[in-house]
Amino acid sequence: MQFDIVIVGAGPAGMALARSLAESGLAIGVVEKRTEDAIADPAFDGREIALTHNSMALLQALGAWQHIPPEVPSPMKAARVLNGGSPYALRFDTAGHKHDTLGKLVPNHLIRRALYRSIQGQGNLDLLCGRGVTAVSTDTDGARVTLEDGQTLSARLVVAADTRFSETRRRQGIPAVMHDFGKVMIVCAVEHEQPHENVATEWFEHGHTIAMLPMQGNRSSAVLTDEGAKADRLMAMDADAFSAEVTRRYRGRLGQMRLDSVRHAYPLVATYAVRFAARRFVLVGDSAVGMHPVTAQGFNLGLQGQDTLAKAIRRVAGRGGDIGAPAVLREYEMRHRAATLPLWLATNAIARLYVEESLPARLAREATLRLGAGLPLVRGAIVSHLQRGGARRVASTAA
Ligand SMILES: Cc1cc2nc3c(=O)[nH]c(=O)nc-3n(C[C@H](O)[C@H](O)[C@H](O)COP(=O)(O)OP(=O)(O)OC[C@H]3O[C@@H](n4cnc5c(N)ncnc54)[C@H](O)[C@@H]3O)c2cc1C
Repeated sequence: MQFDIVIVGAGPAGMALARSLAESGLAIGVVEKRTEDAIADPAFDGREIALTHNSMALLQALGAWQHIPPEVPSPMKAARVLNGGSPYALRFDTAGHKHDTLGKLVPNHLIRRALYRSIQGQGNLDLLCGRGVTAVSTDTDGARVTLEDGQTLSARLVVAADTRFSETRRRQGIPAVMHDFGKVMIVCAVEHEQPHENVATEWFEHGHTIAMLPMQGNRSSAVLTDEGAKADRLMAMDADAFSAEVTRRYRGRLGQMRLDSVRHAYPLVATYAVRFAARRFVLVGDSAVGMHPVTAQGFNLGLQGQDTLAKAIRRVAGRGGDIGAPAVLREYEMRHRAATLPLWLATNAIARLYVEESLPARLAREATLRLGAGLPLVRGAIVSHLQRGGARRVASTAA
């Protein structure tokens, strides 16, 4: 089969890119190793994605937001960061800012389902499911992609969107910096007695952390980070014991808690590809930048990155140029690196600071909170960062 672009992976980043290229006139093939049923109606995976205003606007422009039931997105009106029993807390709220929320929380599986629905009926697109990619080779004229069943696809450009542990990236010889935090993150929904008032809380306790992300009603997404063996024990507990443990770790702040979903565990490994592009080959989503979830930016950055790449491709395709030319891929790489590297480094520094239990690290945590609490301008800049850019970006996406 002959395509202009083959995208490896129909995760949120791969599907968003396919949708962004709908009006480009280019023939797009998307290869996904899961079955089509599994991506059409993905199972709950525990992740509540905190979408920025910019991401919500992009999803709307892509025709995906419309497929998320309106009662699902849960507004996040404020966020606070606590350190053990310290009286100092960092609080981010929207007073004096453009929007009345920091963003909205939407379950990852519903974002995936919405993106799948947005590409239904897209004329220039073939979705090839149930077979993974096993090899990619490229030369100056084109690329060939081999699937598990031996079928070969040819294209002018191959895009890897196949997770932060991308096999396709490795096969192309692109290294990635990996930081293993030695911890596991457990995510699940809990019901609680008292209202959360749409405030997200991140609480760094000695040796472990717990975050509560506000969902609709008296429900939150609980995010527990702990060492591997302790995380195994948390996963093995029965529902009552686990509920009691979450209530205890949260010091009863929202009353008694009750486990309200299955639990999912994710090893905490942040990744950053050393290059985002090679000959007729480019990386998007987590395969380019795998963020530690503590700053809730992985999908937001992936969505922004695919938009940057799609714009560069559409511009060149519009004038009949070579969509896989090095200059096109370099432009994307430069822009996406500038948009992601400072945040990736800062996120890792925050995550390290909060997992270290040495006395200097504990003092540094306390100092950071005291400093942050006394610096309204810094907190205001972070809120503006979460809120800015939506209208401008959407205008150019829709164009
Ligand atoms: C606990 C947790 C909480 C998070 N919270 C947030 C948040 O609040 N905000 C935020 O912005 N981000 C968040 N993220 C990050 C976000 O979930 C990811 O950035 C996003 O899912 C990455 O999408 P992707 O499409 O790049 O990759 P993936 O979602 O990993 O999808 C990759 C796809 O490629 C397919 N694939 C793999 N190998 C092959 C192959 N060889 N051939 C064909 N197909 C293949 C896979 O089956 C999969 O469908 C969180 C992550 C975690 C773990």
